[in-house]
Amino acid sequence: MAGIEIASVAKRFGAVMALDEVSLSVGQGEFIALVGPSGCGKTTLMRIVAGIESADAGRISVGGRDMTRRRAADRDIAMVFQSYALYPHLTVAQNIAVPLAMRRLSALDRLPLLGRLLPGAATRRAAIAQDVAQVALSLGLEALLDRRPGQLSGGQRQRVALARAIIRSPAAFLMDEPLSNLDAALRVQTRREIVDIHRAAGVATLYVTHDQTEALTMADRVAVMMAGRILQVATPEAIYADPQDLRVATFIGSPRINTLPAEAGADGMLRLAGEALGITTTLGALTLALRPEDLWLAEAGISAVAEAVEFLGESVLLHARHASGQPVILRLPPDAPRPRPGTALRLGFDPARALLFDASGQRVAARAQAECALV
Ligand code: ATP
Repeated sequence: MAGIEIASVAKRFGAVMALDEVSLSVGQGEFIALVGPSGCGKTTLMRIVAGIESADAGRISVGGRDMTRRRAADRDIAMVFQSYALYPHLTVAQNIAVPLAMRRLSALDRLPLLGRLLPGAATRRAAIAQDVAQVALSLGLEALLDRRPGQLSGGQRQRVALARAIIRSPAAFLMDEPLSNLDAALRVQTRREIVDIHRAAGVATLYVTHDQTEALTMADRVAVMMAGRILQVATPEAIYADPQDLRVATFIGSPRINTLPAEAGADGMLRLAGEALGITTTLGALTLALRPEDLWLAEAGISAVAEAVEFLGESVLLHARHASGQPVILRLPPDAPRPRPGTALRLGFDPARALLFDASGQRVAARAQAECALV
């Protein structure tokens, strides 16, 4: 059974087509990271799934039930957003208990004095306190239950927000940049915590981030979105190694994938600035794309000129320029020889790892003739 089903959702703001027939299926227990440049429609999609915004067209279902016309409160979705939205006057325990109190206690139960005198209220409150204690324990918040949000660090506040989201066992989680207010070290730690929480809860999760490391490390599948459309949904490995669209190839990966203009002549042989490569493909103007780690310094290969070297510790980035004028970056081992700026280079590569895209940016098939990149 599907967790979250988004079917042909469209949304327009005046002249801006924020979502253009977006469909995405997040399986039960699956974690999908939604990535894309600023303004591509990620938040709009999340708001529509949550029920905060209405779609112009399309359907949303959660846990197999159609939610398109349901109010946000009735969708059984828990949300964690960038701003923690904790109640500053309530303790951590009270903040975590809010969703349960809303659900299990009546309006009279919730009255500060009278509520305590109603029959059964004490039992209902005790059950809530027990659930809060259990969730707090699983998130390492047990020592902080009596504090108020103002007395917590950013990471602790985000954990309280997570605790509040998971306590009511929702049918789906929506998370919109939940880590962006945390410093780098805390982000790495909280990243793992969110993945662990997701595993334990087994709940369909849609997670928006602009940080591709987060997307690649956390998600079962990554959805890349641009200009209101989802271009590809695939495992992190496939999004990186097997992108079907040039925009996906250039968006994922740092440094950016190298792109060089290539031409396949009447013989089907691919040429870069006149140099024939050991690859045949369909006729036409193409883009050859190679990841920085898929290039090396060789005796034969693509001609380029060295420009600069950057030492990164675990590797070295060699910046070079191809005859077409395009920059090329190679990721080399830290102990590799470092060519001086201006040195003429030959860049070797495995044709099997070269990605080819046609003029519209779609991936095209290629046949590598030989192990050697240049014939
Ligand atoms: P970011 O990563 O910067 O948060 P995003 O991918 O979440 O961006 P959205 O906030 O969904 O993008 O916006 C998608 C497009 O819709 C943008 O062009 C934005 O300007 C536009 N937009 C969003 N909300 C509104 C609104 N209420 N009125 C008009 N235009 C809007």
